[in-house]
Amino acid sequence: KTADAEQELTDGFHLIIDALKLNDINTIYGVPGIPITDFGRMAQAAGIRVLSFRHEQNAGYAASIAGFLTKKPGVCLTVSAPGFLNGLTALAHATTNCFPMILISGSSEREIVDLQQGDYEEMDQLAIAKPLCKAAFRVLHAADIGIGLARAIRAAVSGRPGGVYLDLPAKLFGQVMNAEAGRKSLVKVIDAAPAQIPAPDAVKRALDVLKSAKKPLIILGKGAAYAQADDAIRSFVEKSGVPFLPMSMGKGLLPDTHPQCAGAARSTVLKDSDVVMLIGARLNWLLSHGKGKSWGDAPKKFIQIDIEPKEMDSNVEIVAPVVGDIGSCVSAMLAAMGNNWTAAPADWMSAVAKKREENVAKMAPRLMNNNSPMDYHGALGVLRTIVKERPDAMLVNEGANTLDLARGIIDIYQPRKRIDVGTWGIMGIGMGYAIAAAIETGKPVLCVEGDSAFGFSGMEVETICRYRLPVCIVIFNNDGIYRGTDVNSAGDDPAPTVFVKGARYDKMIEAFGGVGVNATSPDELKRAVNAAMDSGKPTLINAVLDPAAGSESGRIGNLNPQSVLSKK
Ligand code: ADP
Ligand code: MG
Repeated sequence: KTADAEQELTDGFHLIIDALKLNDINTIYGVPGIPITDFGRMAQAAGIRVLSFRHEQNAGYAASIAGFLTKKPGVCLTVSAPGFLNGLTALAHATTNCFPMILISGSSEREIVDLQQGDYEEMDQLAIAKPLCKAAFRVLHAADIGIGLARAIRAAVSGRPGGVYLDLPAKLFGQVMNAEAGRKSLVKVIDAAPAQIPAPDAVKRALDVLKSAKKPLIILGKGAAYAQADDAIRSFVEKSGVPFLPMSMGKGLLPDTHPQCAGAARSTVLKDSDVVMLIGARLNWLLSHGKGKSWGDAPKKFIQIDIEPKEMDSNVEIVAPVVGDIGSCVSAMLAAMGNNWTAAPADWMSAVAKKREENVAKMAPRLMNNNSPMDYHGALGVLRTIVKERPDAMLVNEGANTLDLARGIIDIYQPRKRIDVGTWGIMGIGMGYAIAAAIETGKPVLCVEGDSAFGFSGMEVETICRYRLPVCIVIFNNDGIYRGTDVNSAGDDPAPTVFVKGARYDKMIEAFGGVGVNATSPDELKRAVNAAMDSGKPTLINAVLDPAAGSESGRIGNLNPQSVLSKK
């Protein structure tokens, strides 16, 4: 018996599975193939949820947003070279967005790759991944699997979260070792993202600046949503009495209908504020780098709460940097504010409220039109009401006009309910995000997609049907990228921005047993979305929009370079 126990063996396959489970990683998003096919089967048999996608990029986006929603690294599993490269886009996306994710890719034999002798799917994956992620590791010995995964988890979630690459060569999976030694080699990561307490001086400095403001503003970014410090953030904003502006994925931390919400007065508060406090939001292009026309002429002072010290002064001077995790920082602020904090000046609050009400009133009639074909406002007016009635549903949103207009029109009422194109403003996150949102939250998912944006991940409707996920996809179909009206003046080919006219995306999902609906008016759209959200059946609604609706690049047309010569 004792001799038997000594002979008991384990191998790479089992050690990786055991290491994942030991660290509560119970879901893998990926695409099977050599050398990870059997690993996927064994992981599933061992109780890990293994979700197979049709393309690695979508599996990777799913893993990245799973990381955002759960504060645990989302895991994406791919094959070597091409599968790895497909997943790498999502890993870079996770890093850019500060989402914790681990891309695990099988790889070819080191001996052959390093001598460049032409192995099956030969590629030096570790070297390629490195500049695109927060950290990259390779495990060569089964005995190092535990420590390798522990390093990957810590790197992904501690400090500023991000993407981590873990390279597992094919040979590792089959490597055998003594089972007892194997068990001992595993590492359970303790306190993977330790609290980072801000310096009391920094907290005091920030509050002094905030107190001195006549026209203060708080900007809540997706870092604030990620932090899951919802109660502290809400208390802080309410106690301060300062108007707040949510970034798109910060929406819902406090409801968009909150009396202090300045979402509908965005340009006014950016221009007129004198002190701006950033909580988990960067002064990148999405905030015009904190300077220039949209920030107005009045001098500004910036306070910034962020876990990443290097973020301070990245674009403009930060007069009060507060470095630490948002939960700890906001709690420290709350404590230091004491019980007789004076709320922001009333004249500023009422100026912001007035502007907000004017803008909301201006928009209201446009949202109630029942035009057929639909325009953006008619279609979004309906979706806005549906989200209001179903505040715990997840909303996924991508596109150009579809994104810009939905972000402004659809109010969000709870934290982390809106997930979208993020820091890069990329197209293609739609179906991956929808799948992960359904899996990680168990809530119904509404995807509001431009027809072009949908195209990047459309094949995953099969995945949605296969796993019977409660996902309702609404495609804003205006026959093209930005619009469907461009013509080619030089030949017979269609213009580069247009698609097949009158395409019926709803037929796609029917091929896999889902529900397809062609909706030509807001009334039809409303009926179809409500039915889908009630039934939980995978549904794709082709919302027929006027091909002339929309503008080039939505709200960011100014980023298009212009040719002087073509303007004859
Ligand atoms: P948005 O696009 O909504 O403005 P960004 O992605 O630009 O948001 O900014 C998010 C910021 O939040 C990043 O600078 C990141 O370092 C920071 N961050 C992420 N998680 C935390 C956390 N737990 N505590 C503090 N800061 C965080
Ligand atoms: Mg379009």
